[in-house]
Amino acid sequence: MQVKLIAHTEQPERVVAAAAKCCYSKKSVDELFDSLTDEQVTNMVTHLLTAKHSSPIEHASFTFSVEGVSRALTHQLVRHRLASYSQQSQRYVEMTNGNYVVPPSIINGKAPSVLLAFNQKQPQPKEVYFQCLKALNDAYGYLVNKCNIPKEDARYLLPNATQSNITITMNAAELYHFFELRLCTRAQWEIREMAALMLTEVKKVAPLLFSKAGASCIRNGYCTEGKQSCGKCKTLEEILVDTRV
Ligand SMILES: Cc1cc2nc3c(=O)[nH]c(=O)nc-3n(C[C@H](O)[C@H](O)[C@H](O)COP(=O)(O)OP(=O)(O)OC[C@H]3O[C@@H](n4cnc5c(N)ncnc54)[C@H](O)[C@@H]3O)c2cc1C
Repeated sequence: MQVKLIAHTEQPERVVAAAAKCCYSKKSVDELFDSLTDEQVTNMVTHLLTAKHSSPIEHASFTFSVEGVSRALTHQLVRHRLASYSQQSQRYVEMTNGNYVVPPSIINGKAPSVLLAFNQKQPQPKEVYFQCLKALNDAYGYLVNKCNIPKEDARYLLPNATQSNITITMNAAELYHFFELRLCTRAQWEIREMAALMLTEVKKVAPLLFSKAGASCIRNGYCTEGKQSCGKCKTLEEILVDTRV
């Protein structure tokens, strides 16, 4: 997968600091934007992140180009509603290129050791996976190219593994929320990888603004996953038990 930050609010930390400062000042945001010192920007952004006053950080927005992720991932992604998306359309773009995402568990998976009839070995997971993808790809190509079936109908054959490109725009507050959920070990590997690449990108242009971003346990100091917790951080229930005498 490729994740690239293609655009963002200019001077995002200064915009956020000026927006926050305007709540307490007679000056206009315009004046504050020009007059705040770098130190004042740093202090204000740090305060907002520590106090979790998230509305001023909504003024900084970030646009990513994401390539080569599965439709399974994009289905999970678009559940995040406080964002804007534009996704490569399977109605207009022909999907016969055979580009599919292959989960590591399938690459590394092992066939059962029980032999089939005639002492034949069971197929490896990746063999079954690739055979199936090829059959679907061939059937799709046949419908579109030989039978003139519209792409929008032939696509019903396409699997979740089909690669897609998507443009994502999120503001910094939504990114914080997205990272809390999708950098958590409970999130699936593919969207977790994409979230990690997105965080890497935004840290290059707004290191202070994203200095406290991370999975929920990093951001909040406790885990909200209860029995599903990976155990790296205490759950709220465990913290409550610890505090009871
Ligand atoms: C590990 C994991 C497993 C998941 N498993 C499943 C699953 O099995 N099935 C499934 O369907 N989904 C599943 N999801 C998706 C999940 O339920 C959410 O839809 C997704 O994470 C988006 O979260 P969100 O609604 O908080 O975020 P966003 O849509 O980005 O919203 C951000 C915040 O804005 C507020 N908000 C947004 N819209 C509204 C609204 N209409 N009303 C009130 N407040 C609003 C909420 O505070 C929300 O947290 C899973 C997510 C994760 C991370």
